[in-house]
Amino acid sequence: MHKGTFVLLGILLVAHLSVGQSARKQARSQSSVRLSGTAIAAMQKIDPQRIRAHVRFLAHDLLEGRGTGQRGGDIAAEYIGTQFTLYGLKPAGDNGTYMQKVPMVGIAPEAATTFSLVPANGAAMNLKPLTQYVAYDETQQPESDVDADIVYVGYGIEAPEYNWDDYKGVDVRGKVLLMLVNEPPSDDPNFFKGRALTYYGRWTYKYEEAARKGAVGAILIHKTDMASYPWEVVRNSNSGEKAFLRLDDTPKLKVASWIHLDAARELAASSGLNLDTMMTEARSREFHSIPLPVKLQAHMVSRVRPFESSNVLAMLPGSDAQLKNEGVVYTAHYDHLGIRPDMPGDNIYNGANDNATGCGILLEVARAYAEGVQRPRRSIFFASVTAEEQGLLGSEYLGKHPPVPAGKITLNLNYDDVPPLGTPEEVEVSGSERTTFYSVVEAMAKTFRLTIRPDSRPEAGHYYRSDHFSFARAGVPSFSINEGMKYKGHDIAWGMQQAEEFTSKHYHQPSDEYHSDMDFTGDAVMARFGFALGWVAASQTKLVGWQKSDEFEAARLRSQSTATE
Ligand SMILES: [Zn+2]
Repeated sequence: MHKGTFVLLGILLVAHLSVGQSARKQARSQSSVRLSGTAIAAMQKIDPQRIRAHVRFLAHDLLEGRGTGQRGGDIAAEYIGTQFTLYGLKPAGDNGTYMQKVPMVGIAPEAATTFSLVPANGAAMNLKPLTQYVAYDETQQPESDVDADIVYVGYGIEAPEYNWDDYKGVDVRGKVLLMLVNEPPSDDPNFFKGRALTYYGRWTYKYEEAARKGAVGAILIHKTDMASYPWEVVRNSNSGEKAFLRLDDTPKLKVASWIHLDAARELAASSGLNLDTMMTEARSREFHSIPLPVKLQAHMVSRVRPFESSNVLAMLPGSDAQLKNEGVVYTAHYDHLGIRPDMPGDNIYNGANDNATGCGILLEVARAYAEGVQRPRRSIFFASVTAEEQGLLGSEYLGKHPPVPAGKITLNLNYDDVPPLGTPEEVEVSGSERTTFYSVVEAMAKTFRLTIRPDSRPEAGHYYRSDHFSFARAGVPSFSINEGMKYKGHDIAWGMQQAEEFTSKHYHQPSDEYHSDMDFTGDAVMARFGFALGWVAASQTKLVGWQKSDEFEAARLRSQSTATE
């Protein structure tokens, strides 16, 4: 962007936020959303060429794909920590350092594992790994045995806000729970958000809820349309070693598993039941769990490999004596898939788009704040997190061990995979509409001349698949910022074609590499947009919250009652 445009943008920003209609509404409810001249000056320092330089380095072959727990990943963390030092930001990690150690463990199922469905009458079904089932022992033991009755619990959801309970007080301690993925289908936006997926529909919730209820195992029935992805995806993401956070006091399952639809049909038939009928019955509020005359007998043998990685954390202390104990947190994961030495040809997963771009943006946002003449009232935290590709583990750990209590974090803004394609005319901020901050987001988008692009597939539950979600679970209002599909000089079809081409040819492939013809203009726009939002959130009187009856509202209220204790 040309310098002249910066100045114009600055004037627009002040003017719009002062007199814009939604801004006026906002002003009544939340004092002011006005960005000061010094804030605008700081924001204008964000430089696409610096983002390029970070991306080029972080995606270099020498970093070997920034694998979690690997040398290249550790070098990336050191690089980011070094930048924070150079900007003059304070360390916010362990013991006065920029590093927050994240204790993890790699678990790989061994060939000696057995997984049998044993009916009271009839022959046992010994399922084959990967083709018929996948299973991990979340208790992180080298060997575990399960010999337990299977209970069918429908969707396995207990959601008081939707008056839904598949358990209805039935004691499932010591049992293995058979359940469906996703949630009861509905077009009613007030019932599990209609077509959109809520967290209750995600497989991770199902495991967590089963463990909370004292079950020893969970078996998820895979059905392509319900999962929104085919069995191959389940198989590929559940083969070989998988990383977990090291055990804490969270209850865990000895058997966390999926079975293929065909195996589920056989299991139902061996109980004298029909799977389709079972699935239909689960859609009713009156559904009651069904104890099956079948046991799961599993001998879980795992290779358990403890290791460590780090989140990189820095802070800019707030200017207000009181409010500096509260903060805004920016996040971008630095890890990618590492290197695969056994693979012929290019075997380095450079992860240029995913997520060197987000790191470059995070670093530029951090530098702009650090070099600003004025500081916002609340503190600003910058967190480059690890192990996103392993299942949002670095951010999960950060959400559980935040630099200030979760109830005092007003907002989390995340960047993940922001394509270097030129000047965006749209922005995606899915999830922001669920927060009390949305009117600010809308006003800011207008100021930046960005159209907000709604989530095109809310049923796929993308909101639950990126690092901001780790903050949402801790109650913190959070969302990711990304470009939409419309770029200057192109139509939407072009943008969609770019996205599809990236997904099919480069996403999670060694070919997600840096190229000198990449255009980081849009990454800089997203950085400035996020800078402006974070600045407002850090300066306005009230903390951001969730809209009434949002699924994360309860977690927010809980975190804030403990935060003030
Ligand atoms: Zn990513």
